[in-house]
Amino acid sequence: MGTRPLLNRRLAGMGTTIFAEMSALATATGSINLGQGFPDTDGPRSIAEAAADAVLGGRGNQYPPGPGIPELRQAVADHQQHFYGLEYDPDTEVLVTAGATEAIAAALLALLEPGDEVIAFEPFYDSYAACIAMAGATRVPLTLRQPDFRPDLDELRALVTPRTRLILLNTPHNPTGTVLHPDELRTIAQLAVEHDLLVITDEVYEHLVFATGHHPIAALPGMRERTVSISSAGKTFSFTGWKVGWVTATAPLVAAVRTAKQYLTYVSAGPFQYAVAQALRLPDSYFDTLRADLLRKRDLLCEGLTDAGFQVFRPEGTYFITTDITPLGEKDGLAFCRALPERCGVVAIPNSVFYDDIEAGRPLVRFTFCKQDDVLNEAVARLRRL
Ligand SMILES: *Cc1c(COP(=O)(O)O)cnc(C)c1O
Repeated sequence: MGTRPLLNRRLAGMGTTIFAEMSALATATGSINLGQGFPDTDGPRSIAEAAADAVLGGRGNQYPPGPGIPELRQAVADHQQHFYGLEYDPDTEVLVTAGATEAIAAALLALLEPGDEVIAFEPFYDSYAACIAMAGATRVPLTLRQPDFRPDLDELRALVTPRTRLILLNTPHNPTGTVLHPDELRTIAQLAVEHDLLVITDEVYEHLVFATGHHPIAALPGMRERTVSISSAGKTFSFTGWKVGWVTATAPLVAAVRTAKQYLTYVSAGPFQYAVAQALRLPDSYFDTLRADLLRKRDLLCEGLTDAGFQVFRPEGTYFITTDITPLGEKDGLAFCRALPERCGVVAIPNSVFYDDIEAGRPLVRFTFCKQDDVLNEAVARLRRL
C-alpha cells in the first residue's frame, strides 16, 4: 500500500470519538455510564406507538420526500412559531435531516469554501472540528473559560478576519451548559451583520434551559436572512437513536444545505418522521415536565459531585455538568476518565478532547444527568469513595 497514509490529511488525528472509547469502557467494566449523553428512559409511549403505527401502516417505509414529509415540515414550522414567534414556510424554509449531526455537516459542506474561517466556541461539540475540516475550512476557536464559561465578546470581535465566513454557535452549549443571554446574542448578531457573516446555530438543547429561557439568534434584527438554525428530536423527546433533525432558514439557505444533504443520506428515518411530527405537537406541559425533571436531576448530581469533592460548574442548560478535578488532587481529565471505571465503576468524559487549547480543558470532566434517579444516586455513592 506504499507509505501514503490511508486517512486523508483533513481527517488526520481525528481517530475514534471519545464517546465510542468511553462507552466501550463502560460496557467492558460494567460501569455506570455518565459519559455519553443519552437518556436511560425512552421518550413518551404515545410517540413510540406513533412510530410503530407508521411502520405497520406503511407510512414512511419507502423513501420519504427529499426535504422531509410535509407533516413534519409543517410541525417544525409551527413549533418555531409557537415557541419563538419565528415564521418559516414549511415548503421552502424547513429541511428534515438525519439528526442535527447531518444538518451541521450539510450546512458546513454547503456554505464553506476551502480557506474560509469558522469561528466556534470551544470546547466544541465533537463533530464540528471534523466537518469544518472536511469542508476544507479552518476553525478559529473562541475559548470558554472557567469559572463561568461565557464568551469574551471583545475577543470574538478580534477573531473576525476578511476570511471569516461564519460563526458556529451552540446554545445551550454542550459540554459547559452555558446558555447565551439576550445581550450576548445581540452583540454576536451585530458583529455578523456588520461583517456580513453567516451564523449556524445548533440548538438541540433548546428545551433544556433551566432559568433564562432559550433565545434563538434568528429572531434578532438582520439575522433571519443569515442564520441556519438546527435542532433535533433526540434530546427533546428522549429518542436519540431515531436521528430526526431539522434546519430552518431562508429558502436560499435551505436550498444550499439541501444540495449537500441530498448527497449525504438523501433521506432517512421515514416512519420516525411521522412520530416526530406528532411529538412536536405535544402540549406545553410535556416540555415543562421534561425541564422540571431534568432540573431536579441536575441539582441532585451537582450536590453529589460537590460532596464527592469535585468543583462543580452548575449548568444553565443541557443535561451535562462540567467539573474541575483539581480539588481531588488530579490534573489530567483524560487520564482520570480512563482510570475512573477501574477506580469506582463510573464513566465520564474528559472535556480536553473538545478543546484546541488543551490546557484550558485539561482538568475538566463532564458528567451527564439524563439518567434515572437511582442510577445517579448510585454513581454519586461510588464517586464519594474517591
Ligand atoms: C447530541 C448533539 C447533537 C447531535 O444531535 P443528533 O440529532 O443526535 O444528530 C448535535 N449537537 C450537539 C451540541 C449535541 O449535543
